Amino acid sequence: MREEIKRLAALQAIDQELRSQERELSKISARVDDLQARVERKAAELDQLSGAERDSALARRELERTLAEGEVQIRNKRMRLSLIKNERELQALGHEVEVLKENNQRIEAELLARMDGSEQNKARLEELSQALEQDRAELKSAQREVADQIEQMRARIEARRREREELAARIDSSLRQRYEVIFDRRGGFAVVAVKAGTCQGCRMRIPPQLFNLIQRYDAIHFCPNCQRILYYESDKETEA
Ligand SMILES: [Zn+2]
Repeated sequence: MREEIKRLAALQAIDQELRSQERELSKISARVDDLQARVERKAAELDQLSGAERDSALARRELERTLAEGEVQIRNKRMRLSLIKNERELQALGHEVEVLKENNQRIEAELLARMDGSEQNKARLEELSQALEQDRAELKSAQREVADQIEQMRARIEARRREREELAARIDSSLRQRYEVIFDRRGGFAVVAVKAGTCQGCRMRIPPQLFNLIQRYDAIHFCPNCQRILYYESDKETEA
């Protein structure tokens, strides 16, 4: 049991180290991740805006076509006006021309409004694509800056993880699982010493009978209060 406890304590040391290395790694890559997210946001906005601009250009072309058609119709009707002698027909045709003209004026106004909108869109598109370019450059240089550091850390973590798996394989699996649950729930401390009769994890006094058992190392014992795995450490000197 003494050996099993030692292995658990060694596993805990590795797990604590892994935890802090992973934290450090995520801190290092946080800036790159932020920049990446910003680039993606802008790229999406740019995409949406240029889609809207394409649709708007199509709509403008359609309006221009309708406007040109209307003008042809007006011209034709005016030509017919000069040939008609009948007063009533003349009036009716004149009215048709007026209606067409009004219609064309409406289309013209819409076209102009769309053109204004498009000006604004284009300015925003220009601004956005410049900003995006800048952000991409910033992202690239940030990535370059930390790339080596990240790679080294990943390699270190990977090596440590392999070491951990080897060690973990030598520990009874149900005990290991229990250890892992406690490690996660109790802030990375699952295996703790009992010193001067007190659990060093939660500072609770261990009942004397349990304390005696722990010193015997004949079984794995858990703190009745915090459920951590306990081992005995002498009051005076830390045992080698
Ligand atoms: Zn405890």
